[in-house]
Amino acid sequence: MPRFGVHASIAKGFEQALVEGERLDCQSLQIFSKTASQWKGKIIDPEVAKKFRKTKEKMGIAPIAAHNSYLINLASPNDELWIKSKAALRDELERADLLGLDFLVVHPGAHVGTGEATGLRRIAEGLTALEKEGLHPKARLLFETTAGQGSTLGHRFEHLRELIDHAPQSWKTGICLDTCHIVAAGYAISPASSYRQTMREFDKVVGIGHLHFFHINDSEKPLGCRVDRHAHLGEGHVGEEGFRELVRDPAFADKAMVLETAKEERGDESMDLVNLRYLKYLL
Ligand SMILES: [Zn+2]
Ligand SMILES: [Zn+2]
Repeated sequence: MPRFGVHASIAKGFEQALVEGERLDCQSLQIFSKTASQWKGKIIDPEVAKKFRKTKEKMGIAPIAAHNSYLINLASPNDELWIKSKAALRDELERADLLGLDFLVVHPGAHVGTGEATGLRRIAEGLTALEKEGLHPKARLLFETTAGQGSTLGHRFEHLRELIDHAPQSWKTGICLDTCHIVAAGYAISPASSYRQTMREFDKVVGIGHLHFFHINDSEKPLGCRVDRHAHLGEGHVGEEGFRELVRDPAFADKAMVLETAKEERGDESMDLVNLRYLKYLL
């Protein structure tokens, strides 16, 4: 059975994210290690980090991923932004290691008109530069499949293949698959025959073994629209059959699958609970 979880808030502190995870009976989690819309985060007190690592061990919540800041764009043609992005990515990786996290999930970036090949090359250059500067993260860097909004990269499986191939060979890398994003990017997973076809395609281009983490979101927008809008499970265009195939797929039986759906109440119940129940009911 996959390890279901949610994206938990750190607004009340890192440990409160774990408490929230436990309350929702999560086996895995995702967090931001700082405010996602800011370049610089407050320095993490090593004592706080130590306590966080202990608590997560005790609770048995694993794996835990950090998600990178939305500002980072290593594909940017603008040197100033590229340098800033590189420093911010280093910070993200160092924070993930300090907190003892398993993964850092990153959106590959946007080429802003320079073309896919150039954008992908810029990203590889950024990562290689960080390795040359002596950065050797313990956390595995996961490139996320994207919806392909604007000029964002990562909406074709071929992009992900490129990114893995040109990432520093001394680093652990992989892919985070987002169900909303791949459907928005044009890869259907419902009905079951489409799921099999999409996974076959992923395996051929990237390799199933590179999949380490999943974002389970429904898509408000239809197949191939290239717009990223998350919906509650069962209320969008992903399709129940696709979700069922994914959670029942023996290839991902031990993988983490976390929700990134809106935090809201319906009636007096949190939608996180409703969505988690939906996944368990599909098993
Ligand atoms: Zn996602
Ligand atoms: Zn998204």
